[in-house]
Amino acid sequence: MDNIAPAPAVLRVAIDMPRPTLFEYLAPPGFDVLDVPLGTRVRVPMGTRECIGLVMEHGGRASISAGSLRRAHALIDAEPLFDAPLMRLLRWTAQYYHHPAGEVIAAALPRALREGLPAAARIELWRVTAAGLTPSARTALQRAPRQRELFELLAAQPAGLSSDRLAASLPSWREAARALQSRGYLERLDAEAPPEVGCPAALPVSASLDAAPALSSAQTEAVASIEAAAGSFAAFVLQGATGSGKSEVYLQCAARVLDRGQSVLVLVPEIALTPQLIGRFRARLAAPLAVMHSALSDAERLAAWRSARSHGARIVLGTRSAVFAPMPHLGLIVVDEEHDSSYKQHDSGCRYSARDLAVVRAGQSQIPIVLGSATPSFETLHNLASARYRRLVLPRRPDQPEAPRLALIDLRAHAVTQGLSTPVLDAMRAHLAAGGQVLVFINRRGYAPTLLCTACGWIAPCSACDARLTVHRAAAQLRCHHCGAVEVLPQRCLRCGFTVKPVGQGTERVEETLAGLFPGETPLRLDRDTASSPAELDTLMHAVRSGAARILVGTQIVTKGHHFPGISLVVVLNADQGLFSMDFRAAERLAQTIVQVAGRAGRERSRGEVLIQTEYPEHPLLQSLLTGGYEGFAAAALRERAAAHWPPFGRLALLRASAPHAAAALEFLAAARAIAPVTAEVRLLGPVAAVMARRAGRYYAQLLLESRERGALHRLLDQWLPAVAALPQARRVRHVLDIDPIDIQ
Ligand code: ADP
Ligand code: ZN
Ligand code: ZN
Repeated sequence: MDNIAPAPAVLRVAIDMPRPTLFEYLAPPGFDVLDVPLGTRVRVPMGTRECIGLVMEHGGRASISAGSLRRAHALIDAEPLFDAPLMRLLRWTAQYYHHPAGEVIAAALPRALREGLPAAARIELWRVTAAGLTPSARTALQRAPRQRELFELLAAQPAGLSSDRLAASLPSWREAARALQSRGYLERLDAEAPPEVGCPAALPVSASLDAAPALSSAQTEAVASIEAAAGSFAAFVLQGATGSGKSEVYLQCAARVLDRGQSVLVLVPEIALTPQLIGRFRARLAAPLAVMHSALSDAERLAAWRSARSHGARIVLGTRSAVFAPMPHLGLIVVDEEHDSSYKQHDSGCRYSARDLAVVRAGQSQIPIVLGSATPSFETLHNLASARYRRLVLPRRPDQPEAPRLALIDLRAHAVTQGLSTPVLDAMRAHLAAGGQVLVFINRRGYAPTLLCTACGWIAPCSACDARLTVHRAAAQLRCHHCGAVEVLPQRCLRCGFTVKPVGQGTERVEETLAGLFPGETPLRLDRDTASSPAELDTLMHAVRSGAARILVGTQIVTKGHHFPGISLVVVLNADQGLFSMDFRAAERLAQTIVQVAGRAGRERSRGEVLIQTEYPEHPLLQSLLTGGYEGFAAAALRERAAAHWPPFGRLALLRASAPHAAAALEFLAAARAIAPVTAEVRLLGPVAAVMARRAGRYYAQLLLESRERGALHRLLDQWLPAVAALPQARRVRHVLDIDPIDIQ
């Protein structure tokens, strides 16, 4: 009779590697698998190395042969890093985005924790030993006044004092401490910091807090609805123009959540653009706040993470990845500017949407979530229409001017100077004469998008991309905005030696043109070149707000987060890029941009004006925006999407591939398509080369999957992706799956 022992029980561990499965290990020495808590870190062997992984499952039987099973080296944490709801969110993320759990978890952890540092902040603690408590100790110290002083201080605190506290009381304590330690009267301990000590990232609460204003009736209603949902899941869309008082609603809801002893997670698109919101949270709420964003140093990130996890920081305000912040008593999530595309991770790793994950997290944690925007995304509007979300509308406040007047300027019908039409220049003169400020919006930085030879037609190309180089005149450079390549700005054509000239407009050129047309004014340029640091941005903002600069030329940066109370005229230089793009979302983005820029117009009590230059004033989308506002536009555009089964009416996934040679990327995708299970519910489109096929020396191609229904798409992906990864062609390309892509060019 065969006597086969059952397979041994194992830990299943997520490791930061591009492998979809978990890794199996025997429990570390001295532990039974069930003693190792889920969500703790373990050190495990991996080939000849050791790496750190997170325990996702324990107790199941090994699926690999007993001979190849290895034992985990050691358990790092006594307590899980993530609580059960956050573990569920991480699992959900890996599953929904079909991404390796180890990589998802790595993205949620500060580097220091991936490298094995303790999950809780540690402090250096000093205390008196038993030997120190004997009467002889005191006698011995009579002739050492420094040591005695320190000794007395510690003798009064049997639990000990931290080095920070000692330094605050006795400036030169350390020397005395060492002397006392060598006499055996003091001991030094390494202890877990209590939450309030463990959160240096959480700035101290201001002594005097700003008072809350009395809420308008719409705000009161919004706060009451959100508050009534406490302790259960509900998704609210707080819709209101810039300045209508959305942040005030966030603040007052947060105050109530904090009063209950819970904490609040606030997501913002970009931290550099939201200093005002951070300032208001700090000035109004008596709770430590931690900020999490990509510009933090490793040490700052670790401190912020630890303070959130220890419940020391009670408000976490952060960008995309803060959706994974460990917050044990989370009571409310706010997603400000929920339509913003920066919530979608689109450059590397797991392509998640922090906005969507925030909703999932709120559902799993049974708490309310507030999605704020003046221009909700189409997905969100669809969720409102199907009653999954609840709408809370904030009308303009009585002391706010009316919505600005929008008008289209037909570029074909007027004289145009360097991209600026006569009616626009006339309007600028009138507004400046009346003491207003003017904002000129153009979606392109640099001097000009093209450098052209007037003799042979040569256009300066990027050598690594299918793209033209942008002229940056002040820096005397040509730059590629896609791969970052930089070249010296040539004076002559590189092909025939004739004169070259910049063609088209960027912010730098518009600034120059306006300086020429409006002598006496110093136009101020606001883009990623002039505001590359928060400090620069702050200086520019100050110049605008103080009125020192009366003409502002800016890119998207100006659509985000700032109030410019003095601006009475907004000019959108060119709306047409968004009208004829290959990308089905381009029109939505165009309308959001126009409405968001327009939201910066309108002085205290006087109505603002917005002029949109276009060669297609009769375009139905522009017309619906003009007559019906964002809502009218969205209704029209959503009908088009419904007819074409585009999201939010259908579901998309995009398999992207890139390779040093165009053929390899396309061959891989064709092979992937050939092995896809055939179903009536999912359509495969492609493969095709990307609109910009060559970027940074690699060729990009893509295969689009489209389905009416989410379930069918995910079932197909579950079945198909392992086979795709195993294709021999897969080894010659980089490939990534993008679920719910926001950009399908
Ligand atoms: P949003 O977040 O929608 O842009 P804010 O909450 O920032 O709007 O409000 C805009 C301005 O109006 C802020 O200066 C804010 O302090 C003020 N404000 C908001 N609500 C009220 C209110 N109920 N009473 C007085 N001032 C308010
Ligand atoms: Zn030439
Ligand atoms: Zn390039």
